[in-house]
Amino acid sequence: MMYSPFRHINAVFTKRHPVHLTFFVTRQCNAACPFCFYLRTADTRHDLAEELSLEEIKKISPSFGDLLWLAFSGGEIYLRDDLPEISRVFYKNNRPAMMLFPTNGLLPGRIRDMTEQILRDCPKSIIAVKLSLDGLQEDHDRLRRTPGSFAKTMETYGLLSELLDCYPHFELGVNTVFCSENQDRMDSIIDFVNVLDNIKTHTISLVRGNLANKSFTAIDRDKYRRAVDRLEENLKKKESSRTYRFRGARIKAAQDILQRNLISRTLDEGKRLIPCYAGSLNLVLTESGEVYPCEILDRGLGNIRDHGYNIQRLLLTDMAKAVLNSISDGQCYCTHECNFMTNILFNPRLYPTLALEYLQIK
Ligand code: SF4
Repeated sequence: MMYSPFRHINAVFTKRHPVHLTFFVTRQCNAACPFCFYLRTADTRHDLAEELSLEEIKKISPSFGDLLWLAFSGGEIYLRDDLPEISRVFYKNNRPAMMLFPTNGLLPGRIRDMTEQILRDCPKSIIAVKLSLDGLQEDHDRLRRTPGSFAKTMETYGLLSELLDCYPHFELGVNTVFCSENQDRMDSIIDFVNVLDNIKTHTISLVRGNLANKSFTAIDRDKYRRAVDRLEENLKKKESSRTYRFRGARIKAAQDILQRNLISRTLDEGKRLIPCYAGSLNLVLTESGEVYPCEILDRGLGNIRDHGYNIQRLLLTDMAKAVLNSISDGQCYCTHECNFMTNILFNPRLYPTLALEYLQIK
């Protein structure tokens, strides 16, 4: 029996307990993508901070309670030797319905072996691996400033595909960062991913963050709209087998469609269109223990090392409360996909629209 997402239904009304944690397990990376909001940020304050050890993570995890969604992030997460152990700690203590492992795919054998270990250790959670693909062949290599990376990512795709039949709780997807450099080649990227038989979901993340090179954020909104419309078509096609395999996949697909539409409108209107639950339903933990309400705001809530490795204690501080109160005034806005997910799924006012999208998915 899988961990059910419906265990979190009360959070729709209370919004008191975080259901979605993004944990940046490392800042190390073996690629050099100039559009990476985490590594190439103009803010270098945290570059030298010490990573949380496995022992520290074991102390932190129980204080988060049950999680709906645990997204690992980095850096390249598979560079951490103890990624399977970290996954096991959260699996045991937080029973996440979904665990997300994004990767640049540059370490095919290591990624395959670690993923299989995680699949074995965490049988009641959906384990989703997302391969980064931002262009085809040398376009991808050039964008990521990493020669040979397209071939490596495709090798990883081949190795991970072998696991799909053995592990029904495994989801394999592709994510493309949409930026100024690849916006004219989105059609060819989408066409390419469409014929990868084992990729069930292709998502697009709009470039974000305080990048050192701002030119990557000069995107054309019409081109973004066209790309998300094409992905929406894929999700709605009758013959398409391109959707998640897990129970509740249709709701997730409907949320994806609504989310892309809202992001597109947010871009057009330049303001927040729906309430944001960052800090109440979503939290971000960095590799050095800093806690943020989201990946965008640079005002942190504190360092969990200073609060006995306990998130509940940290959230009670005046500093945390001040930041969280400032979010509810609606002044900030963003297009960050992960926050939109909870902002949609936990907002009853959006359920009629979500239901309409749901009914259009065959
Ligand atoms: S709207 Fe965006 S920037 Fe503002 S708190 Fe929510 S996720 Fe963060």
